[in-house]
Amino acid sequence: MRTIIVGGGIAGSSVAYHLAAQGENVTVIDANHEGRATDAGAGIICPWITKRNKNTMAYQLSTYGARYYKRLQQSLEATGFSDTSYRQVGSLGVFTEEQAVDDA
Ligand SMILES: Cc1cc2nc3c(=O)[nH]c(=O)nc-3n(C[C@H](O)[C@H](O)[C@H](O)COP(=O)(O)OP(=O)(O)OC[C@H]3O[C@@H](n4cnc5c(N)ncnc54)[C@H](O)[C@@H]3O)c2cc1C
Repeated sequence: MRTIIVGGGIAGSSVAYHLAAQGENVTVIDANHEGRATDAGAGIICPWITKRNKNTMAYQLSTYGARYYKRLQQSLEATGFSDTSYRQVGSLGVFTEEQAVDDA
């Protein structure tokens, strides 16, 4: 099967990578728009200290995604991308109200 993905930001690139890893023939088309979100992103992968409602599917999806990063890095390294700059360095939440600590 041949797949064409429109958009080469993190979402499109991730889908392309995983399909290609399964042996699919993938082409990514990107308009190189200025200001795309992937270029602006700070690279922080830490959904756990978000204020989002933790019972939502969106929260579950983002925490699954964050947990998946270690496996993704190993997979990338196995295919020759040795420096992804990904590091697990922990996080520090700073709060000024006690309630915010309970909510975190
Ligand atoms: C300032 C900022 C900081 C952020 N910090 C973080 C962070 O620390 N951690 C985190 O997890 N997330 C962060 N985010 C969110 C994250 O960056 C985005 O959720 C993510 O990059 C979205 O990726 P995307 O591939 O969906 O979109 P994009 O990166 O915007 O990619 C879309 C691509 O599609 C292309 N395109 C669009 N239309 C067409 C078309 N018609 N034809 C061809 N190509 C097209 C564009 O050129 C672009 O390359 C941040 C976002 C911003 C703005």
